[in-house]
Amino acid sequence: MISFSERLQKLPPYLFVDLRQRMQAAKARGVDVISLGIGDPDVSTPDPVVEALVQSIQNPKDPDRHRYGCDIPVEDFPQAVLDFYQRRYGVTLSEDQVATTLGSKDAIVKLSLGILNPGDIGIAASPGYPTYNIGHVFASATTYYAPILRENDFYVDFDAIPDEIKRLAKVLWINYPNNPTTATADLNFFERAVEFGRQNDILIAHDNAYSENTYDGYRSPSILQVDGAAEVAVEFFSLSKAFNMTGWRLGFVVGHPTAVNAVKTVKDNIDNGSLRALQFAGAKALSIAEKITPPINAVYQKRRDVVVDALMESGWEIEKPKATIYVWAPVPPRFEGSSRAFATALLEEVGVVVTPGLGYGQWSEGYYRISLTYPDEVIGEAISRIRDFAH
Ligand SMILES: *Cc1c(COP(=O)(O)O)cnc(C)c1O
Repeated sequence: MISFSERLQKLPPYLFVDLRQRMQAAKARGVDVISLGIGDPDVSTPDPVVEALVQSIQNPKDPDRHRYGCDIPVEDFPQAVLDFYQRRYGVTLSEDQVATTLGSKDAIVKLSLGILNPGDIGIAASPGYPTYNIGHVFASATTYYAPILRENDFYVDFDAIPDEIKRLAKVLWINYPNNPTTATADLNFFERAVEFGRQNDILIAHDNAYSENTYDGYRSPSILQVDGAAEVAVEFFSLSKAFNMTGWRLGFVVGHPTAVNAVKTVKDNIDNGSLRALQFAGAKALSIAEKITPPINAVYQKRRDVVVDALMESGWEIEKPKATIYVWAPVPPRFEGSSRAFATALLEEVGVVVTPGLGYGQWSEGYYRISLTYPDEVIGEAISRIRDFAH
C-alpha cells in the first residue's frame, strides 16, 4: 500500500485550510469574497524583461535555446549577479560564491538537504517563512524556533538561545525585510548575526526576498556588507517580489562558498536548471534594477497608504511599513488577540480574507497580515468593507 513517507507526515498541517474551507463555503452562499491573503504580485513583469525573454527564445542564432540550462550555463546571469551586488550593496563576490536557483523557496530546502544530517538542528526565526522548517524536516533535522518579538525590534535575541542549541545547530534562518512582520534590519544587527555565526560555527542564512520592495527612500542592506560575512553567511535573493517575476522561478544564493556549492550540488542531482531564455531575461532584470523597481514600489507605496490610513480611521492601531508587500497589524481589541477569530469574522461578515498571524507560528498570534498585491480597485473595495465591519 502506498502511503505518505514519515517525512511528509511530519510536515505541519497547512494552517490556512480552515480559512480556505470557510472561503469556499462563503462563496457557495453567494458572498462575493475578496482576498488580501496571498503575496503574489498582480502587476506584470516589466516590459524590457519580457522582451529579453522573447528575443532570447526566438533567437534562431542560438542553437542551444531549448536545452538544459545547467549543461550550457548562461554566463550572463551570474555576471549580472556580481554586478548587481557590487552596484547595489558595494559587495564584491567571486564566481564560486554564486549559484543560480529556481527561486528561493526551492533553494532554501536544497540548502538544508546539502548541509544538514539527520538529527541536526536548524534555528528558524519565528514568525517566519514556513519553508525554513520544511527544509529541516526534509533533511531529517529538527527546528528550534527563535522568537522575534516587537519588544526586541523583531530581532533575534541571540542571548536567549540556549547553549545546547548553539552547540548543536548548523544553520540560522533570518529574513529582513521580514515576511510577515514587515520589520527591517540595520547593518548593526547583521554584524551581530555574523558574530553569532562565527562564535558558534553556525551558518547564517539570510533570506533577502524583499530587499528591493522598500518605501519612503529606505534602502535595505545585505548581510554580505558586513566584513567577513561570506565566511559564515549566505544570502538568498529572489527575482520574484523584486521584479514581479514570481511565476518565472528564478533567484540566486550568494556568499559562503561551501554552502553555495552545497546548493549547486543538490541542484545538479535534482533539477536541470532554468530555461536559458529565462536566465538571459533575469540578467536583464538585474542589470536594469534601478530603473524597474521604482515604478513597482510606487504602486505598493500608494496601496500601503490607502490601507494604513483607512485602518487608522477605523480606529485600529497600525504602523506604516517601510518595506515588503504587506501590512502587519494587531487584531482589534474585541477579538482578544485571536487572529483566527478576527479573520473568520471578517470573512463571514464582510467577505474579506486576511492572513491570521497564527499561521506563522505561536509568536505571531494576535496579528494579521494584509497583502498589497491586489489591484487598487480590489484593495479599495476591501477597505470600504473593513470600514463597515469596524463600525
Ligand atoms: C516569497 C518569499 C520567498 C520565495 O520566493 P520565490 O518565489 O520562491 O523565490 C522566500 N522567502 C520569503 C520570506 C518570501 O516571502
